[in-house]
Amino acid sequence: MAAKNPYEVLGVAKTATDDEIKKAYRKLARELHPDRNPDDAAAEERFKDVQAAYDILSDSEKRQAYDRFGAEGPAGGFGPGGVRYENVDLGDLSDLLGNFGSFFGRGQRAGRPRPERGADLESRVRISFEDALAGVQIRVPVEIETACHACGGSGAEPGTAPRTCPDCQGTGVISDSQGLFALSHPCQRCRGNGVVVDTPCKACRGSGRERVVRRYQVKVPAGAKDGTRIRLKGKGEPGRSGGPDGDLFVRVEVDPSPLYERRGADLVLEVPVTYPEAALGATVQIPTPDGPVALKVPSGSESGKLLRVKGRGAPKLNGGGKGDLLARLRVTVPKKLTKAEKEALEAYGNVSREQPRESLARTG
Ligand SMILES: [Zn+2]
Ligand SMILES: [Zn+2]
Repeated sequence: MAAKNPYEVLGVAKTATDDEIKKAYRKLARELHPDRNPDDAAAEERFKDVQAAYDILSDSEKRQAYDRFGAEGPAGGFGPGGVRYENVDLGDLSDLLGNFGSFFGRGQRAGRPRPERGADLESRVRISFEDALAGVQIRVPVEIETACHACGGSGAEPGTAPRTCPDCQGTGVISDSQGLFALSHPCQRCRGNGVVVDTPCKACRGSGRERVVRRYQVKVPAGAKDGTRIRLKGKGEPGRSGGPDGDLFVRVEVDPSPLYERRGADLVLEVPVTYPEAALGATVQIPTPDGPVALKVPSGSESGKLLRVKGRGAPKLNGGGKGDLLARLRVTVPKKLTKAEKEALEAYGNVSREQPRESLARTG
């Protein structure tokens, strides 16, 4: 569909100055504006042509390209010939029309609003420290707003249908004729939708929307940290008018461990040792997430010394492998252990030293 010759459409010479082009455009736009020619399809068609012609000739780059390559333009033309409503020169029309409501009301038919992306949602889940290390499948309930199941989103009671708004004839805008041009404002009766609902849907009270709870199965990866966010593409609020759906972000909260302190993929474990063990050196059993290991405490170790056990930490989230376990020696009699900590230590089998039960028991 070849665009019309813009010089002919505006009635100007090929050598016309920018000023002459602008004047010709304004004159024609006034004459042909839809508000002055209601229900005149021919005028509307010419108005679009004028708009398209001015779109090319008012842009020095497009004008040069047109002069050189003709109507098709350098690469497949300037878009659909004639219909260039989207590329309205706002600066020029604002003083010409004073108000855009009527212009857009006619250009974009009511009942076909712009596609809108659905909102992103965030949901929180709480998991245990152990599940965070091992990975876990959880069900996440999410409340979303979606089209009403009863009316399909129209807001009209099933069996009835919305009808074209009689006040604005479906355009969504009302024009008050004041002199040469019409001032327009959104139609109050239909709130700019172009349609009215006589019998509102009972299920959604005419809103066309309803809130539903959806449950998603979410895989929390091994090594998830407190605050890890998992993105589920397209599981947020549904888009409107054909727009894409939003995303769901699941925020993982991890319970603290009575044993380990998390440092990225490394785990820090406090290891009580007796004074003779620290002074003379010893091998002690310590818990790790994968079961107990023997830790060699070198002679002359001081309290607070960190001993690294390779590959016994938390799984690394990106790229595999595991962090390390850092055993922090505590030579003095431990005072901080709670009952839960003692139980956890015993559960992990920290019982093979000569006196661990006694040393733990003394702390209570
Ligand atoms: Zn409904
Ligand atoms: Zn209306």
